[in-house]
Amino acid sequence: MTEQPSGVTVIIIPQPTVNGPLHIGHLSGPYLAADIASRAARARGERVLTLAGVDVHPNYVLTKAENIGADVDEMIAKYRAQITTAFQLGGIGYDVFLDPQDPDYQRAVAGMLRELVEGGTVPMEEFTLHQCADCGRTLHHSYVVGKCSVCGTGANGTSCEGCGSLTSAQSLVDPSCARCGGSPVPMVATVPVLRLEDYRRRLEAEWLQAEWPSRMRSVLQQYRSAPLPDIPLAYPTNWGIECDGPLAGLRVDFPTELGLSYLYGPARALRPQAQTLAERVAAWREVDGVWHFNGMDNTFYFTTLYPAILAAAGVPEPKARGAVVNELYLLEGQKFSTSRNHALWADEFLAAEDPELVRLYLAWDRPDRYESDFTHESFRAFCEWVRPLLAGTPPAEGALPAALAPAEIERAERALHLAGFDAALAIRSLLAALSTGTGHDSVAMAALSGRGAQTQGAQTRGGQTRGGQTRAEGR
Ligand SMILES: [Zn+2]
Ligand SMILES: [Zn+2]
Repeated sequence: MTEQPSGVTVIIIPQPTVNGPLHIGHLSGPYLAADIASRAARARGERVLTLAGVDVHPNYVLTKAENIGADVDEMIAKYRAQITTAFQLGGIGYDVFLDPQDPDYQRAVAGMLRELVEGGTVPMEEFTLHQCADCGRTLHHSYVVGKCSVCGTGANGTSCEGCGSLTSAQSLVDPSCARCGGSPVPMVATVPVLRLEDYRRRLEAEWLQAEWPSRMRSVLQQYRSAPLPDIPLAYPTNWGIECDGPLAGLRVDFPTELGLSYLYGPARALRPQAQTLAERVAAWREVDGVWHFNGMDNTFYFTTLYPAILAAAGVPEPKARGAVVNELYLLEGQKFSTSRNHALWADEFLAAEDPELVRLYLAWDRPDRYESDFTHESFRAFCEWVRPLLAGTPPAEGALPAALAPAEIERAERALHLAGFDAALAIRSLLAALSTGTGHDSVAMAALSGRGAQTQGAQTRGGQTRGGQTRAEGR
């Protein structure tokens, strides 16, 4: 009898929207943190399956191309290349790349939604949307602008950056067409609707069992006392994966696509032959739980919509284990802004600097507890201090007493567990150990610096490995 290995932990790196490159604020948030946590978990011998990808189907992508007068396909190719270059230079590994431009992925997403409708799990219902009286666009996501009805912040029809509330043409105050300024007019469409209230018991189990940061807990507290919304899963619109069967003429809404991609990704690695919804759900028997790495502003999606989609698909138990979230990262005291060209692009910065030092610095300065601030001066000072430590040259003075180094290495490695993940603590402890000339071959060193290739983690039953090879696209 072979020993039964423990289940797989799925780690989800959010797919960046291809309406721009990654900047180092993104890198300092979910991207490096997820990679560090994945590497550390693998080094501990845990079975980890890390999902990454890009997000092509929010209509923000088409809007960006129209705004800058670019061919949308060329623009997607350019930003996609910059994003995957940043992954590669930054050593950000993954087991499955969720590729919305892959026909197999598109068929899978449209097929899973069709099965949910045909099986009666998700009803087709008449739903009042809004369209623009002038240009006729369905007003959702980037096509609508107004004010959040909860906090008054200006918002598009996705979610409010001010308070995290869901927003739509139906809920925004003073909505108008963001493309031409036209007025919204009601439009009744027959669309698949996920009634989140039907999944409340399951969702409350997910919320209770997982480890969420305290700010997210207060958001979840609100969800517990207010009715959960009905969510259209597809729209009559001009951007997104085209639906078929009873949904012909609609396109999969991008949050629906993301939720379904998290069903598809593990199946792709664990059951590569899976074609149906039930076969993909079966792959989830091997999955112990899911960790999301994401920004606070996406709380609704990874605590509620994505778990509800897994539940609707038939994944029998709650799988949420927790989230590692981050606040904004500032650049020289100000928010990153593409329009003001106040940004430091991740691919360019990683190409110009030593990626190991970039990783260590961004872990050291990680905006997890508060908005922290990247400054070139601090980065330079950090590099001058750390470079000799990495080279094995302890400082002439100010080194940690050698007797304390083992405790620092232990502390660093414990801080890289998913529960209580704290990369900023881990790097401080590691640097203290390095000042004594030890810790170079530690798990914390390998995970934080990205030294060495990631090894495959998602071993299937019986110890065989299928499709768990970590790679970076374009290698
Ligand atoms: Zn319009
Ligand atoms: Zn708001």
